[in-house]
Amino acid sequence: MNKHDVIVVGGGLAGLRAAVGLCRQYNVAVVSKVHPVRSHSVAAQGGVNAALGNAPEGRDDTPERHAFDTVKGSDYLADQSAVVEMCRMAPEMIYEFEHWGAPFSRLPDGRIAQRPFGGGGFPRTCYAADRTGHLMLHTLYEQIVKHQVRVYDERVVTRIVADDGQYHGLVLWNLKTGRFEGLASKFCVFATGGYGRAYRNSTNALINTGSGIGMALRAGITLKDLEFVQFHPTTQFGTNILITEGARGEGAHLLNNQGLRFMERYAASAMELAPRDIVARAIQTEIDQGRGFQGGYVQLDLRHLGKERICKRLPGIRQISIDFGDVDPVDEPIPVQPGQHYSMGGIDTDVTGRTNVPNFYAAGECACVSVHGANRLGGNSLLDTVVFGRLAAEAIAGRFSDFDRKPDAALVEAGVRSQIERVERLSGRGDGVPHHEIRNRLQTLCTEKVGIFRNQEDLAEAVRQIGLLRRQYQDVTLKTAPGPFNFEIVNLLELESLLSLAEITARGALARQESRGSHSRTDFPERNDAEWLSHSIARMEGDEVVLSYADVDVSRYEPQQRTY
Ligand SMILES: Cc1cc2nc3c(=O)[nH]c(=O)nc-3n(C[C@H](O)[C@H](O)[C@H](O)COP(=O)(O)OP(=O)(O)OC[C@H]3O[C@@H](n4cnc5c(N)ncnc54)[C@H](O)[C@@H]3O)c2cc1C
Repeated sequence: MNKHDVIVVGGGLAGLRAAVGLCRQYNVAVVSKVHPVRSHSVAAQGGVNAALGNAPEGRDDTPERHAFDTVKGSDYLADQSAVVEMCRMAPEMIYEFEHWGAPFSRLPDGRIAQRPFGGGGFPRTCYAADRTGHLMLHTLYEQIVKHQVRVYDERVVTRIVADDGQYHGLVLWNLKTGRFEGLASKFCVFATGGYGRAYRNSTNALINTGSGIGMALRAGITLKDLEFVQFHPTTQFGTNILITEGARGEGAHLLNNQGLRFMERYAASAMELAPRDIVARAIQTEIDQGRGFQGGYVQLDLRHLGKERICKRLPGIRQISIDFGDVDPVDEPIPVQPGQHYSMGGIDTDVTGRTNVPNFYAAGECACVSVHGANRLGGNSLLDTVVFGRLAAEAIAGRFSDFDRKPDAALVEAGVRSQIERVERLSGRGDGVPHHEIRNRLQTLCTEKVGIFRNQEDLAEAVRQIGLLRRQYQDVTLKTAPGPFNFEIVNLLELESLLSLAEITARGALARQESRGSHSRTDFPERNDAEWLSHSIARMEGDEVVLSYADVDVSRYEPQQRTY
């Protein structure tokens, strides 16, 4: 069995940034389901926030303003010291990328260009046209190649081996050989991304199944705030491919079927650049009240920006609209509808990425620090991945020599054997339920009952039905023989996590009798700080998931009413 000092699971921005931070001192390996540059980070479009104050209208911007906007955007559920730290580090993180050669878009004077994003009010979002994730991930991957970091790609981690509060190693399904294998290490960082694929209408890659978060839960690691799921206001009607907020940052308008810029009813001053929770609810309300277009969408109108600006600043959006919707935004508005986009909740960590298992860390979208609280601002996730990827690396480096316990390889071997036996049992079952039937039902259920607007009746029904699906999962069967590139095994094993995460999301949403950020209860429409200014915590006790609550750090800014 191969051994490393540190294993990073995830080849997206958070994982690669953690690996780059450790690789000069330690023997580090990156494990990823896909080649690192195919991670979902590569699809990020609109940009990354940092108070550089480069744009003429944003000269007064400061990290403090960035922090305040983030806290307000989070509906006061973010932990404020963590937000302050992230925003303080933001400019340095952008310059680090610039020095590594990241080709950001530029102002005429040569400085990095910035555009406004929702909930900011300042041009604070640095970008590379509408392909920011692509350039950042490729830039970071160059560093991985330069430092010759070992990458185990096309390996799916299926189990964390932990015992008595200590992490020892991982069990991996090797897609190329069609076999399980073990890896041991002293420290581990999970950077496995979100669980958007619990929903049918998601902007996320198909690989975003939350398997890392679910596995962590089963290994005794605590999760936080799963009921806060972000719905992006503008996804392409029908396909739910993301149409970046950068389009509205460039000045695009949202129109209903009367040709009205309806945001004036919902956020009269910020208009289209209100935070995502508010814009998504506004669009859904227009659709629900009959002011949308046939089939359920509104229009995003870019025409007044002109062809040159659209082609220069939003070339990817134009191409997506033409290729997948047969609409050229130069000539016609883009049909858009809200869709699942981001997981605010995840593995509960402190600012250094540390979890309740002392040698197990998490960073990026799979983690919940929490800097996004109940609603993330656009452009803050790319920032989160690189800030907390780096801080996790620094924390591990600082604790490496003090942590003197060695991983127990025999325990990891036993973990490998138990996974082999599990797959043998699944294959020998004959007529069980195929996994995709359960997954499809789950995705429909989450979309219909745990969506933008929620209520007691729907949520209780969702919890009940997810419980039934979990029981059906006990009889799930593997139809094809294990072997190289058998994705049925991967999909089947990952469904276990998707079911648990969906259940915790629905249970947390049912319990939380208030509306805060992305969590909007029609039966409890107000935020209720007296009873609910708290993080939801989920952990396994025996076979059961138990929910509890923890304090929010409100040490910097007093919670206020949130208007835009
Ligand atoms: C379409 C789209 C556009 C976006 N645009 C923006 C934007 O403009 N600005 C912004 O701030 N945010 C944006 N976001 C959000 C942001 O891109 C993501 O939150 C962020 O990139 C997540 O990075 P990550 O490193 O945490 O995870 P990811 O990039 O999702 O990477 C996860 C990694 O984990 C690996 N992995 C997962 N499970 C396993 C397993 N079981 N075994 C082995 N490997 C595993 C995967 O292979 C992958 O390498 C966007 C998101 C989407 C979906």
